Amino acid sequence: MPIIEVNELSKIFGPEPRRAIARLDEGWSKEKLAAELGLTVGVNRATFAIESGEIFVIMGLSGSGKSTLVRLLNRLIEPTGGELRFGGEDVLAMNAKQLRRFRRARIGMVFQKFALFPHRTVLQNVEYGLEIQGVERVERRSRALEALELVGLKGWEHHLPAALSGGMQQRVGLARGLANDPDVLLMDEAFSALDPLIRKDMQDELLALQQKMKKTIVFITHDLDEALRIGDRIALMKDGSIVQVGTPEEILMQPANRYVERFVEDVD
Ligand code: ADP
Ligand code: MG
Repeated sequence: MPIIEVNELSKIFGPEPRRAIARLDEGWSKEKLAAELGLTVGVNRATFAIESGEIFVIMGLSGSGKSTLVRLLNRLIEPTGGELRFGGEDVLAMNAKQLRRFRRARIGMVFQKFALFPHRTVLQNVEYGLEIQGVERVERRSRALEALELVGLKGWEHHLPAALSGGMQQRVGLARGLANDPDVLLMDEAFSALDPLIRKDMQDELLALQQKMKKTIVFITHDLDEALRIGDRIALMKDGSIVQVGTPEEILMQPANRYVERFVEDVD
């Protein structure tokens, strides 16, 4: 059953963005939109569904719209058009209070820049994420400790981030994303800043966590190998549009068009 359903979801940046959708239908290029109307295509009518419990990878070159799309999924930015459902609920119909509750209960986020506070301990960093969500003190502590244990950081609770390696710092980021026990974890280039070997460890770790916790994970990456390694399914983006959604095998063996073919042609 899909947990997230996205239909014709678009985000255009700039003045009077709705004008852009009709222009795109007329076949305007994104260069022409930018030059003549000062509009930037972030996401262009994305349509897909994410199944509960899968690792859904959004892949594409830098600037292809991945971060914009992932921010649309928890409505950190407002779409220019389209529909978004989460567990059957219309996210775009929620008021501010409902939206806060929805994010708190259902979504966790992990970023590329770990965004840890340098003067707070590992434990305090994870607790802080819960604090801004209004979780009370005792529960904060127990959930944070549990999340840190889950990512293998038991014993490191009272260290400062600087004492940890890059991989361990990202585990703190992961613990923070998991601490509220979300239905969906959104990870935007979470491993992209890590050294290749540590990155591979983190991929394994994430796959193991996934086996154990059965979370739905939306994983953004510009790296094809990473996408193929961890994705149950992959959506490939180009210039704001999704050009293909499929399993790694489908993407490799049945590329939808020449662009996908070229994207994957160096893989053996
Ligand atoms: P990716 O994450 O794949 O690198 P982004 O989603 O960050 O791509 O960006 C997609 C496009 O939207 C880019 O052309 C980018 O410059 C543009 N964009 C992203 N955020 C904004 C913004 N806040 N204002 C204007 N343009 C933006
Ligand atoms: Mg990005």
